[in-house]
Amino acid sequence: MRSPLFVSAAQRQTTDDWLSHRLTRALETIRAGKASPTLDLEGFKEELAARNFEHPEALEPLLEWTVKSMENGAVQMTHPRYFGLFNPAPSYPSECADRIGAALNPQICVLSHAPVAVLIEQHVIRRVGQRVGFGEKAGGHFTSGGSEANATAVACALTRALPQFADNGCRAFSGQPRIYVSNESHLAWLKIAHVSGMGRRAVRMISTDGSGRLCANALSKQIDSDLASGDVPVMIAATAGTTNAGMVDPLERCSELARKHNLWLHVDAAWGGALIADDSQALILRGIELADSVTIDAHKWFATTMGTGMFLTPHLGTLEATFHAKASYMPSGDAEVDYYLTSLQWSRRFSGLRLFLALAAGGWDAFAQHIRRGQALIRRLNQALVVEGWVVANSSEMAVTCLVPPVEKTEARALRVTEIVTAVVEQGNAWVSVAIFEGAPVIRVCITNGNTGDDDVDQLATELIRLGAH
Ligand SMILES: *Cc1c(COP(=O)(O)O)cnc(C)c1O
Repeated sequence: MRSPLFVSAAQRQTTDDWLSHRLTRALETIRAGKASPTLDLEGFKEELAARNFEHPEALEPLLEWTVKSMENGAVQMTHPRYFGLFNPAPSYPSECADRIGAALNPQICVLSHAPVAVLIEQHVIRRVGQRVGFGEKAGGHFTSGGSEANATAVACALTRALPQFADNGCRAFSGQPRIYVSNESHLAWLKIAHVSGMGRRAVRMISTDGSGRLCANALSKQIDSDLASGDVPVMIAATAGTTNAGMVDPLERCSELARKHNLWLHVDAAWGGALIADDSQALILRGIELADSVTIDAHKWFATTMGTGMFLTPHLGTLEATFHAKASYMPSGDAEVDYYLTSLQWSRRFSGLRLFLALAAGGWDAFAQHIRRGQALIRRLNQALVVEGWVVANSSEMAVTCLVPPVEKTEARALRVTEIVTAVVEQGNAWVSVAIFEGAPVIRVCITNGNTGDDDVDQLATELIRLGAH
């Protein structure tokens, strides 16, 4: 009898066809259902515990059980009223890329093993890097996400600041190395500082200007005072599109300070970086081209499936100095083409195909349209709420809004915000979240789905207005 793990061509065809139909149905079910999980999780845990891997099951019923459980067992990224945390309903070409990558499973850590896949990824990274403004030197690689890309930036900054860091670690520095981010930055910086060996306290959280942007004067003062006390500043990480509020730090001022003190300038544009697709909005990101490295997540506003970040840089030499390695069993070792010598990962999935197929099928223009739709929907929502006495706390040019319901007393605000968000999520017709913007709670709404329409936004507005009036 054949192993259930490695099936015949005929079996593959049958199951693939069945699964394709089943997933299309699941997406319809999700669309008509709730945005938040409704599955009885206690019952599910029992079903799960019963699967103790002692009694093999037929694959098709197992797939059915998995898909059915997920239809109402998750916050649904594909629901048109998931107004959530940048997680997209994935573009269809990127889903196709996952099927190809999964079926053929190329190992793309070296060019010689998967030349077609490596060349495709290099092509995408170069084009994206050129659009960022890095010119002919544009390079980098795909990462598992923004966090890996940001960690890569820290590793490069430390290595560039002091070559002895490579062998001796942070002990090689004459004082505490420091990185600078704003209070509104993505707090994975603390984890990254931890695993880099610098320690969480190495991160200087610079105050913001009241509108969610890093305050350049406060940054300048902090660097001066750290230098005076013997610390070693190594990197400024500016954010272009904060997670809570879509605000952009003053990139040009950050670049001046980085240049003055010889620091690595990283721009974390994990979500907002997608604006490079739209020439007419290039000014929102002005200064990004001055960075030493940039993070852009394709799995956010570029709407690929999960696990697709990008680290972009014009400094291939620093990447190589940071990630070089020797292994006798590797078929080749050329940093120009072999990703295992210039990145944190070794074995690599062909994740860049997701963005390649999407860009090739839609062009930059499909993304420019996608971005403008999101922005227009957020304007529509803001307008509907402002006339009812709501306040928009952020002034982002991106597709995210931070809303404050009408309250008589400021002290009542936190409770009101939590009550409204809890009611929306429990109702399940939409998903929104509580965020803290400039120290105060807000209702955060982001357009993440290319199929969200005017009626979805109008439904949310009606529900928020009703809940806000109580
Ligand atoms: C999402 C996000 C990250 C983290 O990226 P992951 O892909 O979740 O690892 C970092 N920075 C910003 C600004 C983000 O929005």
